[in-house]
Amino acid sequence: MLETRTSPGAVWEAALGDLQIQVNRPNFDTWLKKTSALSYEDGEFVVAVPSTFVAEYLERNQRSLVEKVLAGILGQEVKVKFQVAQWAGSSVLASRKALPAPPQQACLPLFNPRYTFDTFVSGQCNQLAYAAAMAVANEPGSAYNPLFLYGGPGLGKTHLLQAIGHTAVANNLKVLCVSAEQYTNELMSAIRERQTQELLHKYRSVDMLLVDDVQFFAGKQKTGENFFHTFDELHNAGRQIVITSDRPPNAIPMLPDRLRSRFEWGLVTELQAPSYDTRLAILQGKTKHDGVEIAPDVLEFLAAQVQQNIRVLEGSLNRVVAYARLIRTMVTPQLAAQAIRDIGGGPPPVKLLSAGNIIGIVARTFQLEAPDLTGKKRDKETSTARRVAMYMLRQHTNFSLNQIGQELGGRDAAAVTNSCRKVTSDIQSNPFMRRKILEIQQQLCPD
Ligand code: ADP
Ligand code: MG
Repeated sequence: MLETRTSPGAVWEAALGDLQIQVNRPNFDTWLKKTSALSYEDGEFVVAVPSTFVAEYLERNQRSLVEKVLAGILGQEVKVKFQVAQWAGSSVLASRKALPAPPQQACLPLFNPRYTFDTFVSGQCNQLAYAAAMAVANEPGSAYNPLFLYGGPGLGKTHLLQAIGHTAVANNLKVLCVSAEQYTNELMSAIRERQTQELLHKYRSVDMLLVDDVQFFAGKQKTGENFFHTFDELHNAGRQIVITSDRPPNAIPMLPDRLRSRFEWGLVTELQAPSYDTRLAILQGKTKHDGVEIAPDVLEFLAAQVQQNIRVLEGSLNRVVAYARLIRTMVTPQLAAQAIRDIGGGPPPVKLLSAGNIIGIVARTFQLEAPDLTGKKRDKETSTARRVAMYMLRQHTNFSLNQIGQELGGRDAAAVTNSCRKVTSDIQSNPFMRRKILEIQQQLCPD
C-alpha cells in the first residue's frame, strides 16, 4: 500500500503495473498504455486519456477494475474519472510530468514535448536521417525538400519529425504537423461539409508541413491527388515538407505516380534498427530524463533483450520500473527478467511482419485464401478468420484501427475494436479458437 502523499503519478504507475498483469496485452496496449494521472483529490482519481473513444471504452469496460486496483494501492475507496487530455502519457515513466499541455499550446502543433533533438540518440543506424533532420530544421526549404524518412515501427520517425517541428516553432515558423490518416479524415469531412477551400487554405499557408506515416495514402486515390496539389504548391513556394513512412516511396502501393515521384525529389533516407550501444544510450537517456535510477546491469540486460523496436525497448523499461514499484524492491537483472516474463511472456515479438504476411497466414490456417478476408464475404467461417486477422494485425503491427479496417475490406475502427474484443474473449472460452491462435502465432514467430 502506498502512502497517500505519494504523487498521483507514482500511484498510477503502480496501478498500471498491476493492470498490466490483470488484463491481456492487446487490451492493455490499446486502452491503458497511453494514460497518465492528472490528479487525486477528495477520493477522486482523474486519469488522462488520449481520446474520447478511449475514455468511453474505459468508462464502460474497465472502470470497476481500475477502481479496485487503485483502492488496493491507496488503501481507500476511490472514484475514477477518465478525462481526455493531450499527452495523456507518452510512457509510464514520463507520466509524472505528462500533465496536459498548457493552454497557450492549444493552437500550436501538438508535439510531444519529449520528442526533441536533445533527447534523440544518434548512432550509425540513424546518422544520416538525424543529420538531414537537423539541416532541415535549421535551414528549412533549402537543404532537402522534401525530406522523406522511412523505417520500421518504433525506430524514431515520429520523434525526428516532431524534433524538426519543435525547432521550427522556436524559430517562429508556422508549422503544421499531421498524420496522413488525420489529413485524410480532415479532407473527407471538409468535402462532406463543403469546406474544402478552408482546408486548402489551412494547409497551403504554412511555412513547414510535417506529414507522418504517408503509407496511409496507399490506395486512397482522392486523398493522394489532393495531397499532391498541397505538396506542389508548398514546394513551389519554397516551403519545407517532411514526410515519414514505414517503407520507401517505391514500396507504397497504389500511390498516384506523380506523388510518388515528388516524394523522391529530395532526400529519401532510412532509419535502421539500433545497435546494442545505441540501445543502451537510449535507455540511459530515458532514465535520466525521467529521473529514475536503475542499475547499469539492468539497462544492459534490457538493451540486450530488445533489439528491433525502440518503443518496445522503452516499454520494457517502463514495465520493469512499474513492477519494481509494485512489489517495492530494487531492480536487478533477475527481477527485470521476471518482470518481463510475468507481464506478458517476454518482450512482444519484434519481427517486422507485413499485413499481407499476416493475412495470408491467418487465411491459410482457416483453409481460406487471403482475398476472402480482404473481400466482402460474410459467411461464418470467413468472418471468424477475418476477426482473427484483425486481432493479429493489432498485435503484430503498429497499424491504427482504421488502417486495419482498410486492410480487411474497408471495415471501420469500431468494427475492428469489436472483433479484437471478441477474439480476446473467444480465446478464454473456446479451445478451438485457442488452438487456432496458437497455430498462427507459431507461424508468425517460429522461435
Ligand atoms: P516511429 O514513429 O518510427 O514508429 P517513434 O518516433 O514513435 O517511432 O519512436 C518510438 C519511441 O522510441 C519514442 O518514445 C521515441 O522517443 C523513442 N526513440 C526512437 N528512436 C530514438 C532515438 N534514436 N533516441 C531516443 N529515443 C528514441
Ligand atoms: Mg510514428
